[in-house]
Amino acid sequence: MTATLTLLGTGHPGCLPDTYQTAFALVAGDTPIVIDCGGGTVQRLATARANGQPKLMYKNLTTLILTHLHPDHTAGLADFIISTWINGRKEPLKIYGPKGTQRMTELLIEAYELGIAEHWETLSPTTYPLKYVVIEYSDGLIFENDDISITAFRVSHGRMETYGLDCQMADKKLVFSADTMPVDSLMEHGKDCDILVHEAYSVEGLRTATRFSPAEYFERMHTSTVELAAIATELKPKRLILNHQMHLAPMSDAAFMKEITDHYDGEVIFGRDLDVFEV
Ligand SMILES: [Zn+2]
Ligand SMILES: [Zn+2]
Repeated sequence: MTATLTLLGTGHPGCLPDTYQTAFALVAGDTPIVIDCGGGTVQRLATARANGQPKLMYKNLTTLILTHLHPDHTAGLADFIISTWINGRKEPLKIYGPKGTQRMTELLIEAYELGIAEHWETLSPTTYPLKYVVIEYSDGLIFENDDISITAFRVSHGRMETYGLDCQMADKKLVFSADTMPVDSLMEHGKDCDILVHEAYSVEGLRTATRFSPAEYFERMHTSTVELAAIATELKPKRLILNHQMHLAPMSDAAFMKEITDHYDGEVIFGRDLDVFEV
């Protein structure tokens, strides 16, 4: 069985012209799992469908996992809940997320109550109710079906409760770092993985950018390119895919990559929105 990973958005809070905020679609078997939901996730799913991924149709989008509740990973949540519903999702949307996800979801539903009612109660062709369920998780197995099991592991991202995801398929393993500084749990779960999807910031960008002071913020919230090279050297993933690349100062993507490849010999891919990978 082949699983497919689509990078829906590889961005972060520093908005970029051609890069949407963080989101992924992982399809193992017939079930798409959307991971994180930055602004524009529904738009990116539409583009991925148009690019030849019919399994990402609205009615199938019933599983969403949030790694943490920062806005660049959740700003598309209301749109995701409502757009999948009015475009054909009849089953409940299962939203997995850390503590606080239930409240965030309820507040969004309340904020959009007029629009939801309009879609549902008047002349709208939507003839079925909006259904969702929130599952707040912590460390451990959070999702399992015949094709995939997903274990969440706590990472270190300042005060924000954040989880990496260890996705085990029949004979493949894919690990998402989420947003984190270097942390032991990733070194444990990242062993023997086929794909490691990891965030990074540029050491040179942080050194030269005056607006990101103190540097300690990035050092305690995120992973530098040089740190990531050391992590990958130890873990030896078959493929390392970068996402959430924080340049922090004007520089080319090639220069960003070089900070890693100068210290790491394995395969590194500079992830871009709508890239598709066979796992
Ligand atoms: Zn982020
Ligand atoms: Zn974050």
